[in-house]
Amino acid sequence: MARVPLRPLDGIDFDAVLGEIGDAVAKDFGKGKVASYIPALKRVSPKKLGIAVSTVDGKEYRYGDAREPFSIQSISKVLTLIVALHHEGEGLWKRVGREPSGNPYNSLVQLERENGIPRNPFINAGALVVTDSLLTHDKDAKENFLNLARTLSGNKKVKFDREVARSERDHGHRNAAIAHFLKSHGNLNCDVEEVLDLYFHQCALAMSCLDLSRAFLPLANQGNDMHAGGNLIDKRRVKRVNAVMLTCGVYDGVGNFAYRVGIPCKSGVGGGIVGVIPRALSICVWSPELDAIGNSYVGTRVLELFTSKTHLSVF
Ligand code: GLU
Repeated sequence: MARVPLRPLDGIDFDAVLGEIGDAVAKDFGKGKVASYIPALKRVSPKKLGIAVSTVDGKEYRYGDAREPFSIQSISKVLTLIVALHHEGEGLWKRVGREPSGNPYNSLVQLERENGIPRNPFINAGALVVTDSLLTHDKDAKENFLNLARTLSGNKKVKFDREVARSERDHGHRNAAIAHFLKSHGNLNCDVEEVLDLYFHQCALAMSCLDLSRAFLPLANQGNDMHAGGNLIDKRRVKRVNAVMLTCGVYDGVGNFAYRVGIPCKSGVGGGIVGVIPRALSICVWSPELDAIGNSYVGTRVLELFTSKTHLSVF
């Protein structure tokens, strides 16, 4: 398959851009709220800001708390989707759709109306189906998922935050309800408890902005993974996964987010957002205060400024 030319980045002073953005968003702290649905996340300092950029020509740029691990939460749903597509191919889409949900990420109502087929793999119901697929095809799915995160990020120290995982389980009644509901519709193969255990652990993966920008670089680089030196992500899937991120990646705010930021992104309630600019770079920003929809308030602003200042977006 022919390689599509990379986008020229030489004229951009990324260090200067990140510095300007850091100064510009200083006034935006205090406008959002740190996630409080589990006690383990409530304790995170609200004033953190980390940014990391990994480019397809092998360069990296960092700002602020870019090396500090945080709870990646729903960002993990992109990585599990990649694994499930590897196992099941296009057949996965019989069990989960790929349309924006227009509903909160943990809603049960839509699932009931649509007979147990989740709208997309990034709402919780869809992610549970995807997690079920991992367990169906691999009895060591938890360990292998951790290894994938380590390989893609090039960081062997990436680990599950056990306290967050426990907190997710202790307060995960809504996710348990969704999983049982999926099971009642025949859309989970594995034991509900096993699926929930892996789901809570994937959410509790602790990674830094730098880990995540490295891990997502293959999605900007036609599947090519510089750190692992191979092609862990099938080239043909890169377009698909980025498309689902663009249309479903930031909760119930995709339209406004695409208007402001203009690149495929996936956010998590830990305050992280990962973005992909095809044939150019991957970027991760972390700032724990969330807007009313669940996306990092400062993080969204950082990405908006980044794509505006660099003139890099998919549009
Ligand atoms: N662990 C969270 C939940 O399942 C993930 C939320 C998120 O980041 O979207 O409710």
